Amino acid sequence: METRWVKMEETEEAEEGYAEAIRLLLAGQNVAFPTETVYGLGGYIGTEEGLRGIFQAKGRPSDNPLIVHVYPGYDISQVAREVPASAESLMARYWPGPMTLILKKAEGLSPLITAGLDTVAVRMPSHPVALELMRRGQIAIAAPSANLSGRPSPTTAAHVYEDMKGRIPLILDGGPCEIGLESTIIDMTVNPPMVLRPGGLTLEEIAEVLPDVCMDPGLTVQKDVVPKAPGMKYRHYAPKAPMWMALGTPDAQETQIRQGLQEAKGLRRGVLTVDEHCRDYDAEVVLSLGSRRDPEGMAAHLFDALRRFDEEQCEILFTETIGSEGIGNAFMNRLRKACGGKTLKGDNHGGTSISD
Ligand code: AMP
Ligand code: MG
Repeated sequence: METRWVKMEETEEAEEGYAEAIRLLLAGQNVAFPTETVYGLGGYIGTEEGLRGIFQAKGRPSDNPLIVHVYPGYDISQVAREVPASAESLMARYWPGPMTLILKKAEGLSPLITAGLDTVAVRMPSHPVALELMRRGQIAIAAPSANLSGRPSPTTAAHVYEDMKGRIPLILDGGPCEIGLESTIIDMTVNPPMVLRPGGLTLEEIAEVLPDVCMDPGLTVQKDVVPKAPGMKYRHYAPKAPMWMALGTPDAQETQIRQGLQEAKGLRRGVLTVDEHCRDYDAEVVLSLGSRRDPEGMAAHLFDALRRFDEEQCEILFTETIGSEGIGNAFMNRLRKACGGKTLKGDNHGGTSISD
């Protein structure tokens, strides 16, 4: 299958892009489209082939449900049978935006979307191309991220092309994603509501509307608790090479990484760092996510950097870390997954070991 790549900034091409995308979606085919979080791999919620095609193109396990994307004016009762007042308040404040709500699903919604669950994930993205596509077609679109299963989510059309070339007929290119991390998922079917996945909308922002919001215990320290969002149990966001995180103050982190680089001499070593430190490391590949003072910018560049380490064929990776305030919470959640939890710990004797 040939994969067309259409730049949506240019008016004439965009007109054709929308028309072709809507034609394909209605015919049960799949189209990748930009959102403010990451690129989505869309299927029209009314076609079984379009939904099945998403799982096929990604190599996604069928027990991992999709997010239904909607637009202003869409009648939510088509997909959710109950919308609690607290969910209405969140929607009024944060839609369109990087927030996915889990609601009780409507009768008749395909079980392919919900992976057989009684609940459905719904979001209204803010990217103008995503909104315009749905508005023009008058369709809600089911979509997960447009990466191959297990790879970092795509934040540019080039990332989508890398993973989906030959697998889907069309990619709508809306430029790099502004947020670059996936949406925050909040389960509104439990009391108090529970964050199942940290993401582009921060906990602090949610708490302004829902002061009693809590976090899924499966996201924190209790390793024996299975996360409630089916997708969170899968290995995700992992670069091919093993990756270790430095912890502590920026200076302490630099020391830990220098030590790790020493111990890994002879391997092709990569370091993920910040502008403030990017000249301090002697490694084969050094990538900066931007200034430590701009965590939103760092978040927006994370997935691109993880993909570049793969391209560079690094054999071992080290990364700096940031605090978990604001977007730092979602950023660190993805980075911990990329590292499989492995940390560089300086011990009391000043030593560091990458083997622990
Ligand atoms: P992605 O957009 O690729 O991150 O995939 C959608 C995410 O939404 C996955 O992590 C799913 O597990 C999650 N999700 C979708 N529907 C539900 C649901 N009904 N309950 C909990 N999580 C869901
Ligand atoms: Mg995904």
